[in-house]
Amino acid sequence: MEDTYGRRVDYLRLSVTERCNLRCRYCMPEDGICKKRREEMLTEEEMVMAVKAAASLGISKLRITGGEPLVKRNILSICDHVSKVEGIREVCITTNGILLPRLAKPLREAGVRRVNISLDTLNPQKYFYITRRDHFGSALAGIQSALDAGFEQVKINSVLIRGFNDDEIQKLAELTLRSPVDVRFIELMPMNRGDELEQRAMVKNEVVLDRLPQLRKINGDGGVAQLYRLPGAKGNIGLISPVSHQFCSQCSRIRLTADGKIKPCLHSNAEYNIKGLKYEEVAAQFRNAIMGKPEGHGGLGVRCPSGAGRNMNEIGG
Ligand code: SAM
Ligand code: SF4
Repeated sequence: MEDTYGRRVDYLRLSVTERCNLRCRYCMPEDGICKKRREEMLTEEEMVMAVKAAASLGISKLRITGGEPLVKRNILSICDHVSKVEGIREVCITTNGILLPRLAKPLREAGVRRVNISLDTLNPQKYFYITRRDHFGSALAGIQSALDAGFEQVKINSVLIRGFNDDEIQKLAELTLRSPVDVRFIELMPMNRGDELEQRAMVKNEVVLDRLPQLRKINGDGGVAQLYRLPGAKGNIGLISPVSHQFCSQCSRIRLTADGKIKPCLHSNAEYNIKGLKYEEVAAQFRNAIMGKPEGHGGLGVRCPSGAGRNMNEIGG
């Protein structure tokens, strides 16, 4: 369906939980989150109904996210059901990868076609610092399990942070030489509550181009990422610049939070509730949300935090 600015909205990010087995400093507070009551959260049936309603309005691409989607007890059943919804052409998942050694194959069998794995560093001590948890080995094993499970595409997402991992740009990019993975560098976004990192630490994607002069621009559908490639690489490098180059004019997304709020824009606190509603009402809320999608959001930066009103784990990225 087209929104009021002529953008075709065909992509839904479905957050299945706010909980997580990591505590990334840019995403979640150390003490975790104040758990909402079970009755406030969408049930599996409500999630599947929401996906059906969204698909009836032209949503064809679905990304399962969180929190950490793989800590959700019924994640395989959710994936299996949503991948069978008429009109949904592809189901992808974004995960920190820790539980992939156990779940990669079952997820593939449940209809998930592509997987994005978040990994900001190749150094175990730095991993412990940024995630506040000691799961580096499991995350690496998770990437290998994803490759072995035969997903159509495996992407690694790295949020770049000055003084933390900007010295690893080359090493992270070189993962594309060894394995058929894409590596995507994401600018740090100023979420307003749980994040601990100074927005001054955001590394503009231009820095990646300076550090890797051998990168060649390529054409292809990278979604919001600009695509490049190292000579001889098996995968692409994607640059995602939500702060330095906003992509609102091409935004095709809406989001559904685990507590049943449709968010037409990541950086706006406008939300449309669907918790407890019937199918027709849910479809009407999706329509309202798409038509209510703002033209864009204000600039993001040191003095301009996101207007999202939630931490990233409560939205889904
Ligand atoms: N737990 C899963 C994971 O980490 O992949 C899925 C949810 S996580 C919120 C989705 C994505 O958002 C991750 O790639 C994460 O790095 C990114 N993210 C979280 N907070 C961010 C921030 N402040 N700026 C940029 N990206 C952020
Ligand atoms: Fe958890 Fe993902 Fe947020 Fe890290 S980025 S705390 S893994 S939800």
